[in-house]
Amino acid sequence: MLRNRHAKILATLGPASADYEVMKKLVAAGVDAFRLNFSHGSHDDHRRNVANIRKIEAELGTPIAILQDLQGPKIRIGTFADDKPQMLKSGDRFTLDSDKTPGDHKRVYMPHPEILKVLQVGDPVYINDGLVRLKVVKKGDGFVTCDVTAGGAVSNRKGVNLPGVDLPMSAMTPKDHEDLKLGLELNVDWVALSFVQRPEDVHELRGIVGNKVGVMAKIEMPNAVARLDQIIPLCDAIMIARGDLGVEMPIEEVPPIQKKIIRKCREQGKPVIAATQMLESMTQNPSPTRAEASDVANAAYEGADVLMLSAESASGKYPVEAVAMMDSIIKRVENSSAWRPLMDARHPEPEPEIGDSITSAAHMVAESVDACCIVTFTSSGSTAVRMSRQRPIQPVLMLTPNLNTARRLVLGWGLHCRVAQDPTNLDEMVSIAVECVRAEGLGDHGRHVVLTAGVPFGVPGSTNMLRVVTLA
Ligand code: PGA
Ligand code: MN
Repeated sequence: MLRNRHAKILATLGPASADYEVMKKLVAAGVDAFRLNFSHGSHDDHRRNVANIRKIEAELGTPIAILQDLQGPKIRIGTFADDKPQMLKSGDRFTLDSDKTPGDHKRVYMPHPEILKVLQVGDPVYINDGLVRLKVVKKGDGFVTCDVTAGGAVSNRKGVNLPGVDLPMSAMTPKDHEDLKLGLELNVDWVALSFVQRPEDVHELRGIVGNKVGVMAKIEMPNAVARLDQIIPLCDAIMIARGDLGVEMPIEEVPPIQKKIIRKCREQGKPVIAATQMLESMTQNPSPTRAEASDVANAAYEGADVLMLSAESASGKYPVEAVAMMDSIIKRVENSSAWRPLMDARHPEPEPEIGDSITSAAHMVAESVDACCIVTFTSSGSTAVRMSRQRPIQPVLMLTPNLNTARRLVLGWGLHCRVAQDPTNLDEMVSIAVECVRAEGLGDHGRHVVLTAGVPFGVPGSTNMLRVVTLA
């Protein structure tokens, strides 16, 4: 199943799509990877989704990546009397406190005592994605009293953002630890941490999972944006979580931050995901707005590895159409004259390291002989990521004996991942590569294939060989 595009599509599962037949249609329309959003759904729901994905994967013979997205320390207010929403007006006073009784128009329970402690006079408190805005004017033992600076409705368990406040909490809650256990049991390929603030948050997850799964940090807090240079090197991939980012920071900051994160991730060879509201209006309509089409195109022009659908595929009315639309927009961008120069403009300097020198040489050779594809033999996937970092125009056929590696690397730009046995000698290497190139429809008679591998075979991280083969 050739996608004929380099950027990948990650779709969130939810009520609109968590069904075997719909999921099959989503994959046919272009989904390369699925996100299980652990802010919603029961463990049984997630189990069923994983089983369905693996079934579809086996039927189609194409690896599919599964991303477990942990909820993280999402702060929520308590509930209101009779579950009635309350209107807060600008200029009103509103108190958050440690009193569990249902709230009213003057106060509500804040179930996180540490938040009440850390908030200072002058700090902003946003409720419901920033629609309602408060400012702390007084604090005491177990309460903060706020001025309402932007009024609106508040209701049961609405989410809270505290922009710029250093929160004294780890990115992993007890629920996340439980959910992670399930994720590991289900053999997910990636785990994403929400509301990362500091490098220690990533260390905590890495300490539990090691290299069993890919570790992804969602950048959605100002603290993480300020610490990108410490956080990115610790992760295997990064998500630009524009939803919360656009609440935590002024919205005009989001596009430059997106550009900055994509640039840094491309330099460091870390897959980067552009996420949230890419085709938001398609939750209701069968076609997107012009601005949304431009947003998807822009992320592809920037060279993001992956574009993500959230509500569009999880709860919208047109999940399959949204995927098909994203697929068409990306393909159109990658066939436009402006795209290639943008990819070429940022070719990284090879690192003073054998594997990187070989992959950058392979890219040059593939260009000059007009190869139909590049084949990398890799066991850990690190050579394939290096190849992807070059942003070559040729598709990269990543061959690995390790199914987990093939699934994980689906998130890499331009990587076409397949499981193949490890060659034991050079002749076998060529014959395995040629057979796979033909079987995948990547090239035929007379075309050149550029191969990279590590000799002796079977030793991870030893890429040291470059070879050109002409298809008979
Ligand atoms: P969420 O993360 O959908 O889990 O909130 C993405 C975002 O905040 O953009
Ligand atoms: Mn978020």
